[in-house]
Amino acid sequence: MNTPLDWLDALRPSLHHRRWSSLKALDADLAALAPTDPGPADPAARSAWLLRLRRRLAGHRAPDGPEGPQWQAAAQFLAGYRDLDLREATGTGHGQMILDHAPPDLAAYWRDRLAAGGLVGIAATEAHGGSRIREITTAAVPGADGRWRINGSKRWVSRLTEAEAFVVFTRDPDGSIAAVVVDADSRGLTRQMVDPAGLGGWSWGLLHLDRVAVDPGTHLLGRPGKGAAIFRSHFARFRPLVTACALGAAAGVCDRVRATLATRLATSDLPRVRDNAMIALGQSWAAINAATLLAFHAARDGTAGAAPTAGKAHGVDVAVQAVDRLAPLIGAVGFQRSHPIAKARSDLAALQYADGIHDSLYRSAGKSLLDGVPEPVRDGGPAR
Ligand SMILES: Cc1cc2nc3c(=O)[nH]c(=O)nc-3n(C[C@H](O)[C@H](O)[C@H](O)COP(=O)(O)OP(=O)(O)OC[C@H]3O[C@@H](n4cnc5c(N)ncnc54)[C@H](O)[C@@H]3O)c2cc1C
Repeated sequence: MNTPLDWLDALRPSLHHRRWSSLKALDADLAALAPTDPGPADPAARSAWLLRLRRRLAGHRAPDGPEGPQWQAAAQFLAGYRDLDLREATGTGHGQMILDHAPPDLAAYWRDRLAAGGLVGIAATEAHGGSRIREITTAAVPGADGRWRINGSKRWVSRLTEAEAFVVFTRDPDGSIAAVVVDADSRGLTRQMVDPAGLGGWSWGLLHLDRVAVDPGTHLLGRPGKGAAIFRSHFARFRPLVTACALGAAAGVCDRVRATLATRLATSDLPRVRDNAMIALGQSWAAINAATLLAFHAARDGTAGAAPTAGKAHGVDVAVQAVDRLAPLIGAVGFQRSHPIAKARSDLAALQYADGIHDSLYRSAGKSLLDGVPEPVRDGGPAR
């Protein structure tokens, strides 16, 4: 029966990394640690386990240089194959924004923290809508001591209690969007937990900032006014990783269904496998592989444009559709709340919002495809 590495192996000729042995080692460690998983029933125990897992796997790192992003995408696929809650089993995650844009001392500090398994959250979404980051109202005012005081309220923030720091998007005193690093134990930071319908591995909810002090000299990412650009460039690289994880989850469901059908056949529980099941398996296999190739391409490319945005929306949609198509093939047993297929379904549904809501992503990809096209043509034809 298939393994997660078999899926990647099939795509290997199209991948541009030569670190197969390191992916095999990661896969072996993931397999060895899986039996210690307490399962999702107790969220606090699960979250503690996920943090321990991340620390245990901290030695598995993407290689430096151009192979790195595709290695990380492959690592995400292997993690997602087991459970989407393992999406930060490895990697720098949102901490990458700090490594890329923080002043040297802060970047060095976070390089060590992340290498030891530390976790960084992102706080961008507000009540008016996460798809409109340019309209955020969280704002920093300068204090007499030169530090900023940040006031505002962020919502739907993941890693709410697990993150050691958050990259918070705020208006700077000039009204531009800035990205700042806020330590998780900062005075004035309060949390309000919300029970999610999926992706419950990390805690989730509202993050309130009441006069939270930040020194822009040490904790501002990039140059003043660069917050929106940092957000865009980060998600251009982050979304393909999320997508690979989602498609790994769908591949995991595909293999579970295959294994169940094979067992039922072997035990004569099924006299034969019907055509509809074979068609569903074939369609799912093809769709998962095609979307995974696009995710790997987007990971390698790393630039803004249609591949990371439409690729994320399309890849997660493909994963959702594959699981919806496959789940009925094993019957009601897969509909139990505790069943991995039921969990994969609700986790994937959550990913249609998290890290970019899908209609917005398709729209933004469509817009980028029309860049350079004169306005009248966009509206349906040349003006007469
Ligand atoms: C599990 C999960 C984890 C998350 N983790 C984080 C996190 O760690 N940090 C964080 O900051 N956020 C996080 N989010 C929030 C996520 O990024 C947002 O849900 C997403 O950006 C969409 O924002 P929204 O939910 O406010 O919806 P909205 O932005 O309000 O969008 C809802 C709908 O309104 C549409 N819309 C927008 N503008 C218009 C318009 N002018 N006219 C008509 N329709 C419009 C959108 O296209 C969409 O269909 C998470 C969400 C989930 C579900």
